[in-house]
Amino acid sequence: MDQDIIGWVEHWYRVQCNGDWEHGQGVKIETLDHPGWWVLIDLEGTDMSDKSFEPLEARRGEDADDWMSCRVQEGVFQGSGGPEKLGAILRVFKEWCDRFPGWDAPLSPEHVELVAARERIEVVRRALGREAGPEQCRETNCTHLRVAHSIFCSDHHIANLQRVGALPVLSDDGSRVAHHTSE
Ligand SMILES: [Zn+2]
Repeated sequence: MDQDIIGWVEHWYRVQCNGDWEHGQGVKIETLDHPGWWVLIDLEGTDMSDKSFEPLEARRGEDADDWMSCRVQEGVFQGSGGPEKLGAILRVFKEWCDRFPGWDAPLSPEHVELVAARERIEVVRRALGREAGPEQCRETNCTHLRVAHSIFCSDHHIANLQRVGALPVLSDDGSRVAHHTSE
């Protein structure tokens, strides 16, 4: 398989990752016992989610391995094919995306800032670890247990850092940065 298509898939994946998409969506490449390849690409939350795709079925000659089938079903691009068709399946996906070049537009400064803000909050959340208690969070009416190195649960520890300007604050729907850090 040529390296170009792998580089292209890497780039496509990178563009979709926004601090949110990659947690619930993604790309899967598996093998089949036919034998062959099975490629699943989540489209939800990408520019391709509302684009129509003409299903493709290809079989050539007598060679049992020379087949390929691609469709979009329930928001997922699904491509399967013989043992030497992985590159061809990915190229079908690329050619479809290339018909709608909007997906490759550079990210706006606001989007870049949002990704960075989500990442900073995520890093703190991961560092805080599990809400293991045994004491409850000190915030009034909070029923969560505290994390190991704070008297609060993770949400309230993060909220306190946001209150003092040590972490950015996102809008309620999480779609933009509402307050920046104070430094
Ligand atoms: Zn709490």
